Amino acid sequence: MFRQLITGLVLSQLMLIASPFHSPAPKVVYGSYIMTPEVAAPTREAHQRSRTFLTLDRPFATQGKVDSNTLARCENNVAQVFDILPATHVEAIKNLTLSFDPTIRRGLAGGNTLILRCVNVPNDAEMIAVLVHEIGHVVDTGLLNASKYDLKTKFVDRGKVVYSSDPSTKLYGVSWENNRSLKGMKRDFVSGYALESPYEEFAETYIMYVLHGPLFRLYAAHNKVLKMKYEFMRDVVFEGVEYNFASEKLPPILQVMDRHYDATRLDYGLESFLALRGSTDS
Ligand SMILES: [Zn+2]
Repeated sequence: MFRQLITGLVLSQLMLIASPFHSPAPKVVYGSYIMTPEVAAPTREAHQRSRTFLTLDRPFATQGKVDSNTLARCENNVAQVFDILPATHVEAIKNLTLSFDPTIRRGLAGGNTLILRCVNVPNDAEMIAVLVHEIGHVVDTGLLNASKYDLKTKFVDRGKVVYSSDPSTKLYGVSWENNRSLKGMKRDFVSGYALESPYEEFAETYIMYVLHGPLFRLYAAHNKVLKMKYEFMRDVVFEGVEYNFASEKLPPILQVMDRHYDATRLDYGLESFLALRGSTDS
């Protein structure tokens, strides 16, 4: 179903938003101002932007109308996250769409397709959090697949039976009987939204692991089920890599059983997270 969305996208918009600063014309029309080339400000600004804003080094589509600033900001956010997360996770995203349609959901992902809405989002921290959640879906349903058609489980992913050699079933099976029936308690989940389905639980557990490592480990220290889920992320999904940047203030011990509803709306240290870019070797 996501493919249908992709085919309607206008790739040519990428060319239309080519920066006016690179125009060879003697006068640059920018907004309602006319600037002569001697006015250096816009050129310098353009250079600064190209130096500090990362561009995506992979094909992507856009959806909706977008100006160059908004696209650059979105691309920069996505490129930074791609640099930080494991390369195998990022490479599993084969169809990436940056959406500037304010009416769609904040993010959508399944299989190897990911759509991120880059407008109408309160701040970069939330845009990045949504992206990490959606990458969790791609890792779950597009990367961790059955190695063979062995035992059928009671889980069904987008209409297809999930086989027991799919590593994700180790997480699903902790607190779910099947796609709908829970066998756990609310406090065994990282967030309220994780109770929606095994697939939302995977994505919420993934984002908690990446953006809220200290909080997740605090939960795990007080809850055996969440300890198993943390260890699943660490050992199966992240191959031993753990995230330990300065996160939010940890809750007092009396609140250690409380859960937030939506992990993408939980505060975290955006700067500390983005600083991980320099410390990874990918
Ligand atoms: Zn989701």
